[in-house]
Parts: sequence; structure tokens; C-alpha cells
Amino acid sequence: MNESLARAVSERVDELVALTVDLIRFPTVNPPGEAYTPCAEHLACILAARGFETRLIRGEGAPGDSDRYPRTNVVARREGRAPGPTVHFNSHIDVVEAGEGWSVDPFTGVVRNGKVFGRGACDMKGGLAASIIAADAFMAVYPDFHGAIEISGTVDEESGGFGGVAYLARSGFFSKPRVDHVIIPEPLNKDRICLGHRGVWWAEIETHGAIAHGSMPFLGDSAIRHMAAVLSAFEAELYPALDAKRTDMPVVPEGARRSTLNINSIHGGQTEDFFPGLPSPNVADSCRIVIDRRFLIEESLEEVKDEVIAILERLKRERPRFDYSIRDLMEVLPTMTARDAAVPRALAKAVRAVFGREPDYVISPGTYDQKHIARLGHLHDCVAYGPGILDLAHRPDEWVGIEDMVQSATVMAMALDTLLRKA
Ligand SMILES: [Zn+2]
Repeated sequence: MNESLARAVSERVDELVALTVDLIRFPTVNPPGEAYTPCAEHLACILAARGFETRLIRGEGAPGDSDRYPRTNVVARREGRAPGPTVHFNSHIDVVEAGEGWSVDPFTGVVRNGKVFGRGACDMKGGLAASIIAADAFMAVYPDFHGAIEISGTVDEESGGFGGVAYLARSGFFSKPRVDHVIIPEPLNKDRICLGHRGVWWAEIETHGAIAHGSMPFLGDSAIRHMAAVLSAFEAELYPALDAKRTDMPVVPEGARRSTLNINSIHGGQTEDFFPGLPSPNVADSCRIVIDRRFLIEESLEEVKDEVIAILERLKRERPRFDYSIRDLMEVLPTMTARDAAVPRALAKAVRAVFGREPDYVISPGTYDQKHIARLGHLHDCVAYGPGILDLAHRPDEWVGIEDMVQSATVMAMALDTLLRKA
């Protein structure tokens, strides 16, 4: 255990809490992307005061970007005394809507019983504050460090990260030689290292029919009944096949340690939304579903698609008048950083020192900004590590523990020590 780093972090506990509270007070709700600019400016200010060079970068033209809701990101960099690698801490500043069921104001930052409450406390303003304190403590103890430290606050993670990390990765902010190592302080629990995530394929499947009067459906061809055939084939064949596909990826929770499929939506026939009134009686000529297929490192995207298309093609051969179209909506490949890469090694060493045990290595069931860093930045020494209990994210009365933030800030500071001083 590096006592001087641990002490430097614990001396900053009041600052850590104040930083978290201040960040929660910006209601950076996404969508639509509220208060991004003042929050990014506030962060720039805090980081400039700690010797960082800061830049505000707007994700121009990204989904949701407008003059009313600019996608404002902040990237800050502090050079060490001599050349060396760069460690980058990336946090998203956006939060999901507060929703119902809160016993405290979600945007005040209430501190009570060793916890900070508020929307984003856990996911992930507490992690962002912890990374700032980690860097600050490290720089105070070792002002002569080599390399550089970067901290970014980025937008839109909750909606895919296109105006945030993806935009910055496309502009070279997450590639060598600028950056070598990335830590994303998402709330994965303070003694776990998240190496990556499963893959995603979203697609829209449409079945086609022929419109006719509802009193004489035999004159038309119901796209909804064709879709029912698709869904029963999924039930009979696809779901059992997916259930049987187990992965060596350490995905948590356990239930996600295999392939999964969700039907995100289904729409067929006329809308019932024009209240008051009734829909006119028509045979549906179109029915659409959006599927959300999460896949494993053992599967290729091509296989994943072929599995669904094979069912649709078989129906086309066997079912009279069956016709369909399919459209890709999103594709993300699975990512898994090697356990023996520099960042997970440095974090594991620090977790051992702080908690006296081996870290758990996990994989996230859903994706997060690491996908852009891997695919667009081609950086593979990246993990998520941060304070906060994952299950509290997006829930009412979300909170982050102060002691958890202190401990994970100590882990991050010690990882900096390994990556920048002993490199
Ligand atoms: Zn998050």
C-alpha cells in the first residue's frame, strides 16, 4: 500500500464530496442533453485550477446537437515533467431522467449517512469526481511524474455516445500517440475491473401484407399474422438456441453470460393513437419489430445475422405469401481487454493493496463508451473501473458511498503511480 498516496486522497475527502455535489447540481439529463455546456465549463474551471490545459469541444452535427442543446465535451491534459505515456480518465457527464419515486431532490446533491444522493451520483459523477481527486493526489505526491494525465467529461453516453466519445475518438483524442491507457470510472463496484462488453445488433424486421377490408380479411394478407409466424419460430427455435450459447466472458449478472434477444418494439396495422375515435377496419399491410440481439466474443456478427435470416428465409419458402425486409439499425462488436494489459494489471495491483484481495474481472451485459475507444481509437488498453454500485444506476434515490469513492480514488491514484512513475 502506498501510504502517502492513500493519505493524499483521504485529505481531500471534503473536496471529493463537494465536487460530486456540484456535478449533481447540473441537471445534465439526456435526452435532450440539458445543461451540458455549463457542466463542461464548470469541469474545465475545476481542472484548470489544478494545472490542466482544457478544451471544450462540441460534437457538432452529432445526433441531438443543436444550438439549444449543444453537445459540449471537455478534454483536459496535464503534462508531467518528462515525456512518457498518457493515462486518460473518461467519464460521461450525462444522466438519465430522474423519474418517479425519489425521497430527496435528485438534483440537489444531498449528503447523508456517508452517501451522496442524486441522479448521476453513482452513474457516474461520483466516479468522475474520484478520478479528479486521484489525479490531484498523485500530482501532489509526485510532481515530477513522467508522461501526462488526461481527464475528459463527455456527453451522450446514455444515448450511444455519438456526440461524445465517438466524436472525440474520430478526431484522434483516443488514439496513440496522444493516449496510451484509458480508465472509464463507470460504477462497476470498487473491487471489480470491467474488461469490456458483449456485442449488439439491432435490426428492424418488417413483414409485408396486402390491405383489405377488415370484414373480409380473406381478400387481403395480414402482415401481423406473418409476424406472428416469425415470433413463434423465434420461440420454438431461436430462443432455445441462444440460451444454449454460453460464453467464457465473465459477464455479470450471470443471466447475461449467454446470447440474448429482446424484442424492443412491435407495430402493425393502423395506429390506435387518434383518440377519440377508432381505427378503421383494415387488414395490416405492414408489421415491424425491432430486435435487440446481444452477442458474445465467441460469435461473429455475420453468424448472428445469418441465424435470424435463415428463419426468415425458411418462412419465405414454407409459408404462403410470406415476404419480409430487414434493416440494420446498430452494430457493436464485443470488446474484451486482455487481463494482462497494462491498465488492468495496474488496477489489479492497486485493488490488492487497498482491499487485500484479488479483483473480480467482469464484462458488462450492455455496451458503454469503451466501444468507440476500441473501434474508432484502436486503443485496447481500456477498462471500466470506478466506485458506485451498478444496480443503483438509473434508479430512484441513486447514491454513491463516500468511503467507496475514497477507496476507488486511492486505487486510481496507485494505478497512476504504476503507469506513470514506474513505466
Ligand atoms: Zn454510465
